[in-house]
Amino acid sequence: MLEIRDLVKVYPGPVTALQGVNLEVPEGMFGLLGPNGAGKSTFMRIVAGLLEATSGQVLLDGEDILADPRKVWKRLGYLPQEFGFYPHMTGEKMLAHLLRLKGVQASGRTLRQLCGELLERVNLAHAAGRKVKGYSGGMRQRLGIAQAIAGNPRLIIVDEPTAGLDPEERQRFYHLLAELAQNRIVVLSTHIVEDVGVLCPRFAVIRQGKLVASSRPSEALAMVEGRVFEGSVDPSEVAELKRRRQVTQSILSEGRHRVRIFEPSGEAPLGFEEATPSLEDAYFVLMRHGGEVQTSRPDEGGETLAEPIHTMRKEG
Ligand code: ADP
Repeated sequence: MLEIRDLVKVYPGPVTALQGVNLEVPEGMFGLLGPNGAGKSTFMRIVAGLLEATSGQVLLDGEDILADPRKVWKRLGYLPQEFGFYPHMTGEKMLAHLLRLKGVQASGRTLRQLCGELLERVNLAHAAGRKVKGYSGGMRQRLGIAQAIAGNPRLIIVDEPTAGLDPEERQRFYHLLAELAQNRIVVLSTHIVEDVGVLCPRFAVIRQGKLVASSRPSEALAMVEGRVFEGSVDPSEVAELKRRRQVTQSILSEGRHRVRIFEPSGEAPLGFEEATPSLEDAYFVLMRHGGEVQTSRPDEGGETLAEPIHTMRKEG
């Protein structure tokens, strides 16, 4: 279990990037979702022991990471947003170099053997002897994962990993991450809602340095069930609609806009039909209302306001 308590980060400026974040992350894949500038990278870098927090605690299986980052570095793998590569090195040499920097012990094997095993694991064995400059974005990310999983860490931090990957590479990368999340904690930050829906049994939403929700995708969907409506409108009407309604998505199709609306009352707007909610809809609502949304329709009886969406329960 990873526990984050009252985490605050103030950059010089001052810019308050994290305003007292509390979160419990169990074993498995956990998504941290939020728009650009929300504080995801700041959060990830602090948890990875690479950036000092202003105050707060980060406990990995009860051990305070912030008090002594060196203690946990060995139990930690990190794939940053921008991964520095030496383009003229081969994949294998690059990996060996990174493992040396990280101080990974090959325990009974040669470093070369260990690199071979890791490259096999991330499906790059065939490209071990090729120069990194010829790797695709997805291959580079997988090489990054190979170094992150060296030493079999308990916690893996993956910051915005699928940005810039084509759909096929993304799928491959999803599969690899899902495999890695068995018996460990993998925290994945992303602004791509689909990443979370596909991969994460639990996720949290961060906005302006504050956690606005922590939930399961299914719970987030249940929260908006029966209150999402879809209809077609002329492009000229979209701006006005956005002013009047809570538009969760707007997709251009055959010259008209397919627009999805969140309507808290559950009453269909004229010309709109009830739609099966997507995680995108739920994310929009969480971002807008945080923990203050009604969890059932008013007509379903009584005082329904503001059941918090912090639905994550303590494990066992
Ligand atoms: P995200 O990863 O969600 O895009 P960041 O953690 O990068 O968000 O940034 C959160 C906020 O902190 C933003 O307002 C950003 O401009 C600010 N910020 C990030 N790094 C620094 C820094 N080194 N100095 C000052 N402000 C920073």
